[in-house]
Amino acid sequence: MKFTPETYKIADKPMMPFIDADEIWKFINNTISTKERVKEIITKSLSKKRLSLEEVAVLINATNPESIQEIKSGAKQLKDNIYGNRIVLFAPLYIGNKCSNNCTYCGFRATNQKAIRKTLNESEIIQEIEALEENGQKRLILVYGEHAQYSPEYIAETVKTAYSVKKGNGEIRRVNINAAPMEIEGFRTVKESGIGTFQVFQETYNQEAYKSYHLSGKKTDYNYRLTSLDRAQEAGLDDVGIGALFGLYDWRFEVLGLVRHTNHLEACYNVGPHTISFPRIKDASSLNFGDKYFVSDEDFAKLIAILRLAVPYTGLILTAREPEKLRNEIIQYGISQIDGGTKIELGSYSKNEENNNLDKGQFKINDDRSLSEIIDELLEQDMMPSFCTSCYRRGRTGEHFMEFSVPGFIKRFCSPNAILTLAEYIEDYAKEKTAVKGWEVIEKNILKLDDEKMILSVREKISKIKNGQRDLYY
Ligand code: SAM
Ligand code: SF4
Repeated sequence: MKFTPETYKIADKPMMPFIDADEIWKFINNTISTKERVKEIITKSLSKKRLSLEEVAVLINATNPESIQEIKSGAKQLKDNIYGNRIVLFAPLYIGNKCSNNCTYCGFRATNQKAIRKTLNESEIIQEIEALEENGQKRLILVYGEHAQYSPEYIAETVKTAYSVKKGNGEIRRVNINAAPMEIEGFRTVKESGIGTFQVFQETYNQEAYKSYHLSGKKTDYNYRLTSLDRAQEAGLDDVGIGALFGLYDWRFEVLGLVRHTNHLEACYNVGPHTISFPRIKDASSLNFGDKYFVSDEDFAKLIAILRLAVPYTGLILTAREPEKLRNEIIQYGISQIDGGTKIELGSYSKNEENNNLDKGQFKINDDRSLSEIIDELLEQDMMPSFCTSCYRRGRTGEHFMEFSVPGFIKRFCSPNAILTLAEYIEDYAKEKTAVKGWEVIEKNILKLDDEKMILSVREKISKIKNGQRDLYY
């Protein structure tokens, strides 16, 4: 196998970059996809066995409509069998958009003179968090540009502020981060502030393409970014999220890159990424971006179903970059987390402003439904909106692996916790119509637990919630 000659040191151990573009292209170009093989591979995934890169390439290369439909149905079946009908909800909170990089696809890039720069101060962060809590949010992802001001210490402070705000019955119980890669010490500092997942998206796994989009600043270093989550692991931060920005390069290459990255983390640290994200490029301030690698809705749905089958125990995140109709369709193919009530212009939650000024945000979002509208829609589709934050607070890490592999895990933890967090939401924030539908969905899901003791225990906890207790979980 041919690697680039550089080696990187992670905690004094040399490490080879683990993405080999020639190898990935060989899989894409030399793998033959037949209807029979596609069926075999879907069956293998449904029996909880991991897929090899070659098998993922077979799914990628499937072009006949029948096979594509089977891939989508397989992903749906896998999601239904393994995860059930829960969807975890969160909201992004942009803390600061100063940036010293020049990523040609991003509205925050240093050379964009039109960008309106802002960093929330402590009281603005508090106001934003209060507004988010008043809507019922419990899980946030804090987002930052890459700038000297946003040091690990600064990020850790903002995380602590987020956890400290309590408005009514509201509180933030899990703060995830999307920020620039750090040194090991920096990851340690941020971990100590109590974060959940640290996300770093590679943007594109193709090194040549990467160079052409990242024109200046620290982010020009492909390998430093690629190895960032290895440094997080060395710092003891084992809850990490990876992602690729679709539209920068051939989507087939990126899917294999994401799977290769997952395999690397699993092989080296015994725990894969907690989540995978697959943003598609959206319009942004002063953006003039070609569409050479544009990913159609059809390919987007297909690639998400393939990822579901390829890495069954990793969470998949679909954001409000995508429009409502597409989100409602794609959610079925194995999405486990979505954002709701999203506002990405800095400071806009507390001012209740619309997202309509591209110069104030990073890109255009296409689903601006409120959290309550999203919850209504999920309930209509008989899904269980969940604000659960139990696993990481109970120290059950590698949770998605557990959900997948420990028999009864979902019925013992995930479903009851989803029910309890929805019950809290209904009590504290839901409109009457939502409450009626919500209790119906809760009742149906209680019966599905089919364990008398657990059913009794959940019912007891629900009465406690109705009597004013909060934050009850397994
Ligand atoms: N500045 C940090 C960094 O670059 O790692 C934080 C990331 S940024 C605030 C979050 C992600 O948004 C990026 O990693 C990128 O994948 C995505 N993004 C950037 N520009 C975008 C656009 N025009 N449309 C959709 N997503 C975009
Ligand atoms: Fe800065 Fe991140 Fe945007 Fe690049 S993607 S310009 S690093 S905020």
